Amino acid sequence: MKYRCTCFCKAVCFEVTLKSFELTICHCQMCRKLNSSTGFASIECGSSVIFNSIDNLVILTSSAEGERGFCNLCGTSLFFKFKKTNEYFVPPAIIEKLPESEVVFSEEIFYDNKPCYYSYSNKTTKRLESEFI
Ligand SMILES: [Zn+2]
Ligand SMILES: [Zn+2]
Repeated sequence: MKYRCTCFCKAVCFEVTLKSFELTICHCQMCRKLNSSTGFASIECGSSVIFNSIDNLVILTSSAEGERGFCNLCGTSLFFKFKKTNEYFVPPAIIEKLPESEVVFSEEIFYDNKPCYYSYSNKTTKRLESEFI
């Protein structure tokens, strides 16, 4: 199923094919800082991304492994791209007409990087940084 993704100001627009409705939140410091948030929430959408409007898309190489997309007008964080596999991970907040009741918040990663001042109450699988290195 294809979904349209747009930033806040709608200058950036692209289409993704969601692999599932499973939501992952990454607690690593990079995700928290780059999203000015408690974590980076995303749904995996594989490499089949169709970019329609990208004049205002900025790609940041955030590490050896990954790239991040942002709108240079409104600042919306649009995706994380895992360079090795070309897979994109997109925040649910930018996906239009996402059937919210289908979404399952199933996994938290880099859980040991999470600061102690917040935690989510959902029953999730919690994975540690050491599982990714
Ligand atoms: Zn924008
Ligand atoms: Zn992260």
